[in-house]
Order: sequence, then C-alpha cells, then structure tokens
Amino acid sequence: MVFDLLIIGGGASGLAAAVTAKALGIEKIAVLERLSRVGKKILATGNGRCNLSHERIEPEDFRGSVDVTPVLEKFGDVKSFFENLGLYTRTDSAGRMYPYSMAATSVLDAFRLRMREDGIEEICDTEITELCFAKGQWHARTTDVDYAAPFVIFSTGGYAAPKLGTDGSAWDLLKKLDIPVVSPTPNLCPVLSDEKILRPLKGLRVKGEITLYDRDEAIRTEIGEVQFTEKALSGICVFNLSGMIDIRRFSDHYFLFNPVADLGIDLESILCTLQGTRFGMTSEEMLSGLLPKPIARLALKNRHIPADFVISDMDYRQIQMLAAQIRSLHFPVRGLAGFEQAQSTRGGIPGNALDANLQVKAHKGLFVTGEACDVHANCGGYHLHWAWASGAAAATAIAEQLCKK
Ligand SMILES: Cc1cc2nc3c(=O)[nH]c(=O)nc-3n(C[C@H](O)[C@H](O)[C@H](O)COP(=O)(O)OP(=O)(O)OC[C@H]3O[C@@H](n4cnc5c(N)ncnc54)[C@H](O)[C@@H]3O)c2cc1C
Repeated sequence: MVFDLLIIGGGASGLAAAVTAKALGIEKIAVLERLSRVGKKILATGNGRCNLSHERIEPEDFRGSVDVTPVLEKFGDVKSFFENLGLYTRTDSAGRMYPYSMAATSVLDAFRLRMREDGIEEICDTEITELCFAKGQWHARTTDVDYAAPFVIFSTGGYAAPKLGTDGSAWDLLKKLDIPVVSPTPNLCPVLSDEKILRPLKGLRVKGEITLYDRDEAIRTEIGEVQFTEKALSGICVFNLSGMIDIRRFSDHYFLFNPVADLGIDLESILCTLQGTRFGMTSEEMLSGLLPKPIARLALKNRHIPADFVISDMDYRQIQMLAAQIRSLHFPVRGLAGFEQAQSTRGGIPGNALDANLQVKAHKGLFVTGEACDVHANCGGYHLHWAWASGAAAATAIAEQLCKK
C-alpha cells in the first residue's frame, strides 16, 4: 500500500504529526499502530486527566543530547494547537495544563475526530517489524503487509510502560539502519532503597523536602509528598530525581529527607517545648505530636535513642542532635524500579544523529519524534509537550520538503 507519509506508532507524537501533516496539505497519511487502537497511553496520562503541557516551557526543562530549542520554537503555543483541534485547556496553580474537561479521553477524541474528518488512515493491530529504503521509497513492513511512502515518522515511544505498547522493541528497526542509540534507562520511576529501613515505613505518605546526593554533593532538592513502599521511595518528587541518578554507580547516591521542612519555627525550639508539655513521657511519645510514628522511630533509631527513653533526661545537646537527625533522614539508593513502573525513558536517538527538524542525518525522509529521541524531563506536562512539538516539527519539515519538489 502506497502513501505520502507513514507514521509508525499512534501515540502522542504520532497523532500530533498526523493532524499537522494533513493541515499542511499532505494527502495520503497512514498511522500504523501495533495495539488495537491508537492513543492508549494518552488515556493513562495524568491519572486519566492528561497533564498535556505546562504554562511555562523552556528548553532548560529538558535533558538529553537533542537540542530541543528549534523544535519548541517552531511549535509555538500549545493552547492554540489544541484550540485548532477544538479542545480547550485549563491550568492548575502549579502551572500544569490539562484539558478543560479534566478527562484524557477529550484529548484523544480531539485527535481522532480530526483524523476521521481528514481521512487519515488509522491502521491498528499492525506491528512494524521491518523498515528499509528501496527504489526511492521507505517501506514499513509487518510479517505480511508492505506499506510504502517517501517519508516516515518514527514515533514508537520508548521502553516505559510496556503494557501500553512501548517495550522498546521498535528501536531495533533503527539499530538495523546503523542509527546510534543512547542506551535506555527508566525515568520518572520509584527509586529502590534499603528494604530494612523501608519495611517499617511501608504505606506512609509524608510531605517534606527530599534532596538527591551524588558523592556527598547535593544534586537537586524537590518538595512534595514522598510515598514509601516496601522496597522503594516513590511520589512525584522522587520521580523527578530518578532521572538524575547515574545508573553505573548507584552506591554513590543517597537521599536526605526532611519531613519538617515547612515547620516555620526551628525544630529545636519545638522539641524543647514538647519536652515541657510532655514532661515525663518517652522520646517516642514526645515525637508523636509532630511526626508519623514510623518516621519518629527511624529518627530515634538512627540517633541510638531508645523509644522508651524519658525525655526529661534529654539535655539540649541531645535535642540538637535529634533535630538534626529528623531533618536529614538518610536513604541509600540501591537502584531504579523497572520500565513497568516508569513514566518515560532516558536515552534514545541522540542529537548528533538528527538535524534540527528531527530528520535522521544519514537517512533522508526518516524522522524520529517523541520519547524515541534522547530527550527526557520532569513530571508536569513536559513529556507530552515534547511529543506534540516534535511530531508537529517533523510533519512541518516534511510538508516544506514536499513544497520544494
Ligand atoms: C502512566 C503514565 C502517565 C504519564 N503521564 C504523563 C503526563 O500526565 N504528562 C506528560 O507530559 N507525560 C506523561 N507521561 C509520559 C508521556 O505519556 C510519554 O512521554 C508520551 O506519550 C510519549 O509520546 P510518544 O509519541 O513518543 O510515544 P507513545 O505515546 O508511547 O506512543 C508510541 C506508540 O507506538 C506504538 N508502537 C510501538 N512500537 C510499534 C511498532 N513496532 N509498530 C507499530 N506501533 C508501535 C505503541 O503501541 C504506542 O501506541 C506518562 C506516561 C505514563 C506511562
């Protein structure tokens, strides 16, 4: 089957590419999707609400080897992009942008309705297992069908969330074309720590300030809710730090967690006051007015203070040391949870293999978008923004090339 443009992968960037390409006059477009329908991951984003962008997007928000600046500039305003598809947005107090309906289905519908109207072919249950260039055309093949076009957009995502169609197997298609790949690692995922420390904390969600250290150098601090599981620290703030861990040397990294960062008054004074109001009680009872019990126990244990130690016997030096301990609970990094629990992929096609429009330098007519590029970011709508922007950039570049012919 012959088309003007093939899009391999009907996820966020593939759908953005399809509607942009059609709007710019490209006629016969096919979206080839291995799952039974397109956009399944979009429905899972933002807990079903789809945090589709952020009110402030800067190139510095993205990490990886691809220069995102020209792509972001070309894309422009995300609100207008969606309003052109008939979708309205709203922004929460943290700057995260959602569909106005707060339902991810509205985002997928916006694409699917436009695609139906535009006659863009959605070809599902179609896993591409071969990609090659022959006789002036790109060929994307399943085991029994050959799809051909002068242009291909490779938008198969990465390795994160394999149940949603993205197990990274598609990257082999590019490797076979001798395109280099930065090895994939999970990004935005829980971080494994010491099970002995974590087991008593299992199930807790504690607000605070968490800092990632690399060889005793503070790398970055995040504020938010840390969730404790039996094996890992989780929650958005931990997810954001997970992408900064060097996976070749986990043991050089650790977290310090401060569960009283927003107390407002200094902790030593509060502990002294508690010593008065709970005079005669034990250290664990003193702290129960301030901290969840398992956190209090951990701090006391780390300071070698027995839980039944009577607080009236504590001198100011001990109070100071206990306060310091509470402010910096130590969690070693033992690894990252796998791709099953990750929201994105670190790694992908590197910047030096792509031109400013995300065309593979060594293979004219082949473009790479979304998570398949070596680009990653924090939680907050950045990944989807990159997906829309990169899909639109590739489609625009293809339309420009067709115009020149
Ligand atoms: C649970 C979860 C929640 C998230 N929430 C957010 C959020 O709120 N905000 C945000 O910005 N980001 C979020 N992300 C990240 C974001 O969804 C992704 O970064 C983004 O979808 C990537 O877009 P993409 O087009 O590169 O790939 P995807 O959207 O992953 O789509 C790739 C598509 O390619 C198909 N495919 C793969 N291989 C083949 C093949 N060989 N042949 C044919 N088709 C193939 C897949 O089935 C899939 O449909 C979330 C991710 C997850 C897992």
